[in-house]
Amino acid sequence: MKKFKTAIILFAVFEAIAISLWLKTGSLFYLLNFSYIGLCIGVGLALSRAGWKYAREFIQFGVGTYMLVFLGLICRENMQIEGFWYYLLSGVFGAGVLHYAIAKIFGPLLFGRGWCGYACWTAMILDLLPYKQPQGPRKKIGFIRYIMFALALIIVLLLFHFGKATKHTMFILFLIGNLIYYVVGILLAILFKDNRAFCKYICPITVFLKPMSYFSLLRIHCDESKCIKCGKCLKVCPMNVEVNKDSRKRENATECILCHKCTKECPVKALK
Ligand code: SF4
Ligand code: SF4
Ligand code: SF4
Repeated sequence: MKKFKTAIILFAVFEAIAISLWLKTGSLFYLLNFSYIGLCIGVGLALSRAGWKYAREFIQFGVGTYMLVFLGLICRENMQIEGFWYYLLSGVFGAGVLHYAIAKIFGPLLFGRGWCGYACWTAMILDLLPYKQPQGPRKKIGFIRYIMFALALIIVLLLFHFGKATKHTMFILFLIGNLIYYVVGILLAILFKDNRAFCKYICPITVFLKPMSYFSLLRIHCDESKCIKCGKCLKVCPMNVEVNKDSRKRENATECILCHKCTKECPVKALK
C-alpha cells in the first residue's frame, strides 16, 4: 500500500477539489471533471509504481485529450492563456480561470510542473517525436516566452477595446492558438533535435509555472553521497535539469516535469 501512497494522495486531493466545488457551485460538471482527472492521475501513478512503462503517457493522453477535445473543441472553452485573461478581465470565474489557478498557478506549489509532464495536450503530441533526449545544452532564447506572454495579454486587451471579446472569438483564438503551438512546437523540435524545445523557450505558461514550481513540495531529490557521477540521469532528462545536484537552483527547481526518466536510469538509486 505504501508503494501507492502518492497515487492515493493525489487522487484524494482531486476528489476533495471535485466535491468542494460541486457543493459550492451546485454544478455536477465540477464533480465529474475533477473526479475524471484525479482518476486518470491516480490510476496512472499506480500503474507506474507497478512498473508499467507507459504510465506517464497514459495519464498525459487521458487528461490532455479530454481537455483539448471535450472542454476545448466540444464545450468551446478557451483553456489557453488567452482564455485565462479573457475570463479574468470579464470578471467571470469560468473554467479557464479555475484551470489556471489549479494546474498552473497554485497547484505547482504542491506538484511543481506536473502539468507539463502529465497533462499538457501540446506536449502530449511533442513527446511522440523522436528527439526524446536533447542533443546539447540549452539555448539562451528563453526570453521569447515573455514576449509570447505579453502578446497573449495584448491580443485579449485589443479584443476588449474593439468590443470583439466574445466566447465565439475566444473559441476561434483557441483553434488558431493550438494550431500555431503544434506547428511551431514540431518545427522547433526538428530544428533543435529536442522534443521539449517549445516548452523551454516559447511557452508563455511557464511565466506562471516556473516561479510557483520553485517552491514545489513534490520534487526529485538526489542523495549526493550515493551518486557515482555516471551522468546517466543528465543524458535522459528531456528538460536539461542538473538533477544529480540536490539544490533548488533555478534550473533544477523550475524545469523538472517529474517524468521520472532519471530515477529509472540511476544505477545506485540516488534519485527519488
Ligand atoms: S511548458 Fe507549456 S507546452 Fe510545455 S508542457 Fe508545459 S504547459 Fe505544455
Ligand atoms: S528526467 Fe528527472 S529531472 Fe529530468 S524532468 Fe524528468 S524527473 Fe525531472
Ligand atoms: S544517474 Fe544516479 S549515479 Fe548517475 S549521475 Fe545521476 S544521480 Fe548520480
